[in-house]
Amino acid sequence: MTLALPLTQEAKLPAILDTGLDGLRAWLAEHNWPVLHAKQVFRWIVQKRAVSFADMTDLPKALRERLATSFRIFGSEIVEHQQARDGTHKLVLRLSDGEHIECVLLQEADRRTACISTQVGCAMGCVFCASGLNGVVRNLTAGEIVEELVLLRNQLPPGERLSHIVVMGMGEPLANLDALVAALDVAGDKDGLGIGARHVTISTVGLPAKIRRLADLGKQYHLAISLHAPTDPLRTRIVPTNTKTGIPAILEAADYFFQKTGRQVTFEYVLLAGINDRPGDARELARLLRGRCALINLIPFNEVEGLPYRRPSDASLRAFVDCLRRAGLIVKVRKRKGSEIDAACGQLRRRVEQRVPPSASPSETSSPAHGLTR
Ligand code: SAH
Repeated sequence: MTLALPLTQEAKLPAILDTGLDGLRAWLAEHNWPVLHAKQVFRWIVQKRAVSFADMTDLPKALRERLATSFRIFGSEIVEHQQARDGTHKLVLRLSDGEHIECVLLQEADRRTACISTQVGCAMGCVFCASGLNGVVRNLTAGEIVEELVLLRNQLPPGERLSHIVVMGMGEPLANLDALVAALDVAGDKDGLGIGARHVTISTVGLPAKIRRLADLGKQYHLAISLHAPTDPLRTRIVPTNTKTGIPAILEAADYFFQKTGRQVTFEYVLLAGINDRPGDARELARLLRGRCALINLIPFNEVEGLPYRRPSDASLRAFVDCLRRAGLIVKVRKRKGSEIDAACGQLRRRVEQRVPPSASPSETSSPAHGLTR
C-alpha cells in the first residue's frame, strides 16, 4: 500500500493537529466515516507516536488511504536539530508557511521537560532577548504548539514520556492565551500526552489583565513572571512594555493569581552585569518582594551575539543571592543546560534564518538555551 504523495503535493495538505478534533470529526462525517475515528487518529499521533497514516493499523485501510491524500501528519518540519551531551535537544521547526520557531527538550534525573514557543518572534522587545529582535510575525496555532510537544517527545526513547512543560520559548504566551490553553488541554488529556496543569509553567513578561484571566480559568498552571528589575525606571529600560503596565499592577495581578489558584508565583530576574545586578538592586528587590509567598528565579544572562549585555561575575551573583536570602526570600539560580549547543533561545532560529552556519558543534560554543529549568 503506498500512502505517500509527492512532496510538493503533500506539503499543501492541512496538518491533522491543526485541523483539530472537531475539524477532523466534521471531515469524517462529510466523507461518511464514523466520527469516533477522529479520536483514534489523534491518539495515534499524540500518544502512540505514529508518523504516517500507514502506522494506524486499527483504522480501515480505505480510510487510511483517504486520510493520506487529504492530510499531513505534521505541518512543521525539523530543519535543525542539535543535541548536547547532557541530553538536551534543540529543534528549529519550519512551519507550513515557512516561518521558523525553536523548541527544546531537557532531560534531568526523572524529568523530561519540553520548552515551547507560542509565537513566531515576540513583540515585547525586552532589550537582552534574541527572540524579539525582529518583532513578532504571528501567533502559533494550537495545533502548531501541540506539534512542538509531539516532535520533542518523539526524540525520547520508546516508553519514555514528557513529564513537564515550560512555556519559555519564543513569544509572549499570554498574548496567545487561547491557542496556548487549547494546546495544553490536548497535552493534559489522558488520551494525549497526560501532562497535567501542575506540571506546566507559563512564563510571562507580566500582562496584568491576562494574568487575571489565566487565574480565572481555574487551572493549576504554575506562573512565572519576568520581573528583571525592582523599580519602574530600571524595568522600563530593560522591558519596554513596562511603560504600559508598571510593577505595582503586575504584583497585584500576581497576588490575585496566588489567591485564586493557591499556587506560589515565581519571579524571574535575568541578571545583566552592571545594569540590574548591583547591591542596591538586590536590596530594592528584597524590599519589593518581602512578605510575599514567592520564589525568585535568578537567571544569569546568556550572551546573545550582537547585544552589548554581559553575564554577572560569580562574585556579584553570590552577593545578590546572599542579600535576598538574608531578607528571608526563597531564591533559586537557574542552571545552565545544553551548554555546548546553540545559545540562548531565539538565537538558533536567527542563525537558520540568516543562513549562517551554526557554530562548530559539539565543542563549546556560546551560552545555552535559557528557558530550561525553574
Ligand atoms: N515572554 C515570556 C517568555 C520568555 S522566555 C517572558 O517574558 O517571560 C523565558 C525567560 O527567559 C524570560 O524570563 C526571559 O526574560 C528570559 N530570557 C530571554 N532571553 C534571555 C537570555 N539571553 N538570557 C537569559 N534569560 C533570557
